[in-house]
Amino acid sequence: DSDADPLVIIGTGLAGYNLAREFRKLDRTTPLVLVTADDGTFYSKPLLSASLAHGKTPQQLATSSAEEMARELHAEILVHTQVDDIDAAARTLTLVPANGSHRASLRYARLVLATGASCRPLPPIEGDGLARLFRVNSLDDYHGFRTALANRRRVLLLGAGLIGCEFANDLVQAGYEVDVVDPLGWPLATILPETAGRDLRRKLEAAGVHFHTGSRLERLERRGTGLYAQLDNGKAVEADLALAALGLQANTGLAQAAGLEVGRGIRVDRQLRTSDENIFALGDCAEVDGHLLYFVAPLMACARSLAQTLAGSPSSVQYGAIPVAVKTTLRPTTVCPPGAGAEGEWQVQADSDGVQAEFRDGSGRLLGFALTGSRITARDALVAECAPLMK
Ligand code: FAD
Repeated sequence: DSDADPLVIIGTGLAGYNLAREFRKLDRTTPLVLVTADDGTFYSKPLLSASLAHGKTPQQLATSSAEEMARELHAEILVHTQVDDIDAAARTLTLVPANGSHRASLRYARLVLATGASCRPLPPIEGDGLARLFRVNSLDDYHGFRTALANRRRVLLLGAGLIGCEFANDLVQAGYEVDVVDPLGWPLATILPETAGRDLRRKLEAAGVHFHTGSRLERLERRGTGLYAQLDNGKAVEADLALAALGLQANTGLAQAAGLEVGRGIRVDRQLRTSDENIFALGDCAEVDGHLLYFVAPLMACARSLAQTLAGSPSSVQYGAIPVAVKTTLRPTTVCPPGAGAEGEWQVQADSDGVQAEFRDGSGRLLGFALTGSRITARDALVAECAPLMK
């Protein structure tokens, strides 16, 4: 009887768990199942790039275990279980447990995809050093990286984007020597105007971070217990290990194989509904009415809205201006990037206190902003003035 089939959520990251929490505030009785390929530990992913300097272990970052979450959510949580296939017509999932036991199937009444995003594939890099190149996109990855760092001193960081700059800030304060390589001209170049990016760079440099902007890693070789990195500008960097922070891409494979509409992310409307009326998506995997955002604030808005819809009151999400606090404590930085394709110009004021940059269109409308140093106190006023991402 399909009425007894559960609401199923694939993924126990911030998107899956926060949706389950919001849903349980409205509905205590509908059967709820969460399925995850990992161990279902609840943790705050943004802390992964801001915890080394505080000496935090993975155990200290874990807020609750899967068992505790199952009790809190009055839900069944299937851990170490990969969903391999969605049969949308039969409303059935194929499950593959990691312990080698048999594949199983699970019927759903409604399904939510909260499958997150993965690190982008590496660009071609020559040499035999790739085994010492780490990525950090999960609590397990953090564990592996932190273990490898023990008794090491020098870290080569690939990528001066948001996560790269946060790791540079964290590693240098944890006592490591940090070299950052990025093909663009200044840190956070895709979202910060040059003056703000250079302001952040100066503060990180003053703390000891070395930037190699406008250059790419060409070759990474093992040298003894460490690494030798050859850049395309002719320079070389020696390090003990390397960390790549080269951006993310939405996990859309499962949705695509099920015949759902997929763009850069799993395409959903403002009710978070995919091209199948019984399947929804939110979080890093979802492209919401054209917006693909890898941040916590939008997924929280989606979780609240989707919980309403799933509990019987159809609700649409509306993104306002979404400011992001970059966790570079050496130079606090807040950025509210203009939406993709926004037309306008940066207007920049800068002094030793910091930078205030406002992105305005021809008629003076505020479409985005960036603040550094003590100028971040202007944030709330600018958020109130800033045009929403969704009209
Ligand atoms: P994820 O956390 O990736 O969860 C995906 C889940 O899906 C996992 O449980 C996985 O096991 C499961 N899954 C996937 N495929 C399958 C399958 N086929 N079968 C079963 N299970 C599957 N955002 C901010 O707003 N501010 C910040 O300061 C910030 N800092 C960050 C720092 C770092 C280092 C990183 C990596 C991200 C940061 N972010 C930040 C982004 C933010 O953490 C993410 O937007 C958010 O955590 C995404 O949550 P999610 O649940 O969508 O995805």
